[in-house]
Amino acid sequence: MDFDIVDGTLSDGAPDGPIETRWDRHRFDLKLVNPANKRKYKIIVVGTGLGGGAAAASLAELGYDVMNFCIQDTPRRAHSVAAQGGINAAKNYPNDGDSVWRLFYDTVKGGDFRSRESNVYRLAQCSANIIDQCVAQGVPFAREYGGTLANRSFGGAQVSRTFYARGQTGQQLLLGAYSSLMRQVAAGKVSMMPRREMLDVVLVDGHAKGIICRNLVTGELERYAADAVCLATGGYSTVYFLSTNAVNSNATAAWRAHKRGAFFANPSFMQIHPTCIPLQGSSQSKLTLMSESLRNDGRIWVPQKKKDDRRPKDIPEDERDYFLERRYPSFGNLVPRDVASRAAKQICDEGFGVGSTGLAVYLDFAEAISRLGQENVEQKYGNLFEMYREITDESPYETPMRIYPAPHYTMGGLWVDYNLQTTIPGLHALGEANFSDHGANRLGASALMQGLCDGYFVIPYTVGNYLADQTPGSVSTEDDAFG
Ligand SMILES: Cc1cc2nc3c(=O)[nH]c(=O)nc-3n(C[C@H](O)[C@H](O)[C@H](O)COP(=O)(O)OP(=O)(O)OC[C@H]3O[C@@H](n4cnc5c(N)ncnc54)[C@H](O)[C@@H]3O)c2cc1C
Repeated sequence: MDFDIVDGTLSDGAPDGPIETRWDRHRFDLKLVNPANKRKYKIIVVGTGLGGGAAAASLAELGYDVMNFCIQDTPRRAHSVAAQGGINAAKNYPNDGDSVWRLFYDTVKGGDFRSRESNVYRLAQCSANIIDQCVAQGVPFAREYGGTLANRSFGGAQVSRTFYARGQTGQQLLLGAYSSLMRQVAAGKVSMMPRREMLDVVLVDGHAKGIICRNLVTGELERYAADAVCLATGGYSTVYFLSTNAVNSNATAAWRAHKRGAFFANPSFMQIHPTCIPLQGSSQSKLTLMSESLRNDGRIWVPQKKKDDRRPKDIPEDERDYFLERRYPSFGNLVPRDVASRAAKQICDEGFGVGSTGLAVYLDFAEAISRLGQENVEQKYGNLFEMYREITDESPYETPMRIYPAPHYTMGGLWVDYNLQTTIPGLHALGEANFSDHGANRLGASALMQGLCDGYFVIPYTVGNYLADQTPGSVSTEDDAFG
């Protein structure tokens, strides 16, 4: 392995000096691969979510020869499709005081000062480009009456910087990435490899030079060689009994990379999302998220009396405890996720929880409906309300939602340097699979931003720095390392 240890610490390889210019200076210092040589290099991208889909499309657009793998039968079913609430960007369209610096500051503070600041600053810098890229692809972001892109607020921020497409932002962003990806498939630059589960990374002389997959249709084991490997395989929340992640979001790829020597960072930095629909039965394979965007207008409360079994609308205002508004008046219901989750768990543990199990708090839209009108509330959150009604048989227009915290996102992941390279040369990790940007707590709407930033704007530059020193096609599946 050739990663750098500086003063006993694993070096991230980011340049010193003012944080505002680090990425620009670093990009200039990165080695380049000549445009005519790019087609000689093969890159394996595992994952077709926002991280992998964006990376595969962008690397192919640059001219590299890309193979893109996923578990699902189509790249469009990667778990990014489930993302609901939105994507952050420091565009400052509402003119409410946002800036690259403020997005950087909020993200670092929201992550309890545990994220890598160079990466976060780069993320904030690239955030505006991400929105431009997605708009150019035709992503139908919500717009104001006059046509400008609309914003809403997410937790841990006092500005509105979240771009959204109703409650289906992930799906729409993924369709954008997918259209770019399919263009490259049609151009013969990306080979799509669906229904493959990566089981191992193949190392040749300590470098990642291929993968072993299970073909999920035939059951056969398959070998694939390449000049570099990128893992964009998502998070590992499914290590918990139930989470908001689908069962396909398994942690095999990151775990196997770790077993092969890639360092794993902050494995216990796990996000518990405050607003999930509580467990409904014994045969559930996952829990359903209710987007954080609902906390823009929904008010969280419990009865002031323990084990109060009156219907919520029969409990008068002065007998309710709006505990987030009471404890955190400046952020109110939009405190960061870790704060909201801890508060809800604590209040339920003290016996104030509602519902048959006592493991739930109310998320109430009555005030928003009387202030904005049902039609406006429906426009903003209609599909989420419908999802809630289908699962619980209760209408949030008539009675408050019952919600409870659940495992949702993993800030920890494969350790990467500033180039998104793991401690195994040639093996890169993107999106939720890596550890770098969110510290001990991710702010809402920042995962989509990070996946697309890594895929569209970081790896296309940094992978060349590795490949420039490699002889293209130097390894084939005939090598002993492939078994
Ligand atoms: C319900 C829900 C709502 C969310 N809402 C938001 C939101 O509003 N805003 C926000 O910013 N974030 C949100 N998030 C988080 C965000 O969606 C994810 O962090 C992000 O989409 C992850 O993208 P990714 O590309 O890293 O991984 P994923 O989208 O999870 O994709 C992983 C890919 O890797 C493939 N893969 C995995 N393992 C293997 C293997 N062994 N072999 C082959 N292929 C493999 C999968 O098939 C898939 O294609 C939400 C998450 C959930 C669960």
